[in-house]
Amino acid sequence: MIGAGIAGLTIAYELATAGAAVDVYADPGSPSTSLVAAGMLAPGAEVTYGETGMAELQREAGEYWKEYYARLESESGRDLLYEVRTSLFVACSRGDLDELHRMAAYQRDLGFEPHLLDGSELMRLEPQLAPRLAGGLQIAADAQVDNRAAVSALISILAKRGVPVHPVKVRLTGRSGEIDVAGDLRGYEAVIVAAGSYTGDLLANRKLIQPLKGVAIRVVAAPEYLPANCIRGEVFGRKVYIVPRANGEIVIGATVEEASLEESLPRIRDVVDLLADGTAILPALRDAEISDITAGFRPQTVDNIPLVGRMADKLYIHGGHYRHGILLAPLTAKLLSANLLFGEESPWISFCSPSRIAG
Ligand SMILES: Cc1cc2nc3c(=O)[nH]c(=O)nc-3n(C[C@H](O)[C@H](O)[C@H](O)COP(=O)(O)OP(=O)(O)OC[C@H]3O[C@@H](n4cnc5c(N)ncnc54)[C@H](O)[C@@H]3O)c2cc1C
Repeated sequence: MIGAGIAGLTIAYELATAGAAVDVYADPGSPSTSLVAAGMLAPGAEVTYGETGMAELQREAGEYWKEYYARLESESGRDLLYEVRTSLFVACSRGDLDELHRMAAYQRDLGFEPHLLDGSELMRLEPQLAPRLAGGLQIAADAQVDNRAAVSALISILAKRGVPVHPVKVRLTGRSGEIDVAGDLRGYEAVIVAAGSYTGDLLANRKLIQPLKGVAIRVVAAPEYLPANCIRGEVFGRKVYIVPRANGEIVIGATVEEASLEESLPRIRDVVDLLADGTAILPALRDAEISDITAGFRPQTVDNIPLVGRMADKLYIHGGHYRHGILLAPLTAKLLSANLLFGEESPWISFCSPSRIAG
């Protein structure tokens, strides 16, 4: 396994659970975006116009998390802070509210149950919001998890099962157009690349996955300042979300920027914008204390569909989960493990097949 983000760890967990011998390699110089993510498991709020297949995959992945988190908690003894929490879009203007009406219609078409609110209903629901917002849209299908706790739970479960995580950068070499697994990896029956946004570099094929940079800020707030919903809005055309957790942490995210993997630090303008936009929607955030500011790279494919399956002889990929890696990886890992070990061909394995891009 190459990669110890959510994609690498979830597939290592499935394979080790099925009794396979697994090694994980993770480059300490390539930071994991899975530790930057906000942990939203939001099939309802994250629907994108025209991506009906992805909406269905996201919904199934959200369902899978309902039992997956409990399994990880009981096997690791850690609290993942999983909770069902409604998403609440707020509209700062009449134009934003019109857009929420359009989105609600699309969500309804996909079988979700959005609930539109006027300005006064919105304030009754979430009294700490900025006054004079135009309205909102609440969607109940969503949940969240502490993604950092999920990553560390997976690492501790793997350690208990004797699966080592080697702090090693792996290089693959290609010869005559074929990918040849180099060095120490040659002895393995299968190599799975789960290197997030670094996958394109690793496989010398930048078309596979593009990095899309994002910054997230973690703050800590007194319990009385925590909003009840996961709040999303748009200020001056910039999207912002505010994800409260039961332990008092709030994640404010996230910027979206095309950048190279070398530009891995958060920029001041990103931090300034996120804090300005977050406090414009939820002024009480001004009293919160900043605990962490991080940047990561969403691994994006050309069609926003993950890459899950066989690439070449002995070489598999589990990646390209883009904006939804925390949500999707447990389910796609389960499907890939069943495919790799038992030849099971679920429709989602065809849907996410790398051959549509790579071959
Ligand atoms: C700001 C932000 C907020 C987000 N919020 C959410 C959210 O709320 N919900 C959600 O579902 N998703 C969210 N995402 C998306 C999610 O974070 C990603 O889809 C997911 O983390 C990708 O996981 P990964 O394991 O593929 O990659 P990563 O977590 O980046 O892991 C890559 C791994 O590969 C290793 N690696 C790289 N190159 C090599 C090499 N040559 N040799 C060995 N190891 C190597 C790295 O060391 C690392 O361990 C967010 C993303 C961002 C940027």
